[in-house]
Amino acid sequence: MRVPMIAGNWKMNTTVSEAVELVNEMRQGLEAIDNIDKVICPPFVSLAVVGELIKGSSIKLGAQNIYFEEKGAYTGEISPLMLADLCEFVIIGHSERRQYFNENGEIVNKKVRAALAVKLKPILCVGERLEENEAGNTEKIVTGQLESSLAGIAHPDELTIAYEPIWAIGTGKAATGGQANETIALIRHKIAKLYDQEFAQDLRILYGGSVTAANATEFMQQPEIDGALVGGASLKADQFLSIVKQTSKIRR
Ligand code: PEP
Repeated sequence: MRVPMIAGNWKMNTTVSEAVELVNEMRQGLEAIDNIDKVICPPFVSLAVVGELIKGSSIKLGAQNIYFEEKGAYTGEISPLMLADLCEFVIIGHSERRQYFNENGEIVNKKVRAALAVKLKPILCVGERLEENEAGNTEKIVTGQLESSLAGIAHPDELTIAYEPIWAIGTGKAATGGQANETIALIRHKIAKLYDQEFAQDLRILYGGSVTAANATEFMQQPEIDGALVGGASLKADQFLSIVKQTSKIRR
């Protein structure tokens, strides 16, 4: 039985005091819902303070990125060990990292390995560009990303995958529930080939890309979709809470 997850990716938004304010706005509402996983991913600089605010609650904490080396002369980077001390989840391979920071499959693979090595739970993002989608190459791109990101990694039990079509991220132009469900079914099929059917059936796969309170139910009603990775709408307490509530209601 897959437990749905709603994860909020705050991206490079909120100062520390704004992060505190936002958590305080949503904390009570989130805590009242206990049948799904609720994860918030603030910027690195706010992880510690947000962690303190949600300590002992059912709200979980995630980071937005990770470096793959444990420690050393890597100025400005954040290591798996540092994060393992602070949070439970880490987003890896987000399309913005791939696009602006040149992260390729090899780097994403190293990051997934590094996270798993310290028991951090990766939320691995995959997704195609608009032109790839329009050319009918979605399956090829997404399965290729899965192959490279997971190469040589045996049964990553703590893995969550987020299918995020790049053309839907931050654009207000979400996929339809049906489109997302179809691609997530392809992802599950590929995972069954890479691992086995049981692993694929147990794997949690989220949709991400312009999910809001207005369209959340459409996604959550789809049988293959196990939750959402939410960007913009996770910065508004009422929107995020509404998405969590809708998911909680539909929980299969
Ligand atoms: C994201 O950043 O992962 C995302 C899905 O963003 P948005 O919800 O704003 O499209």
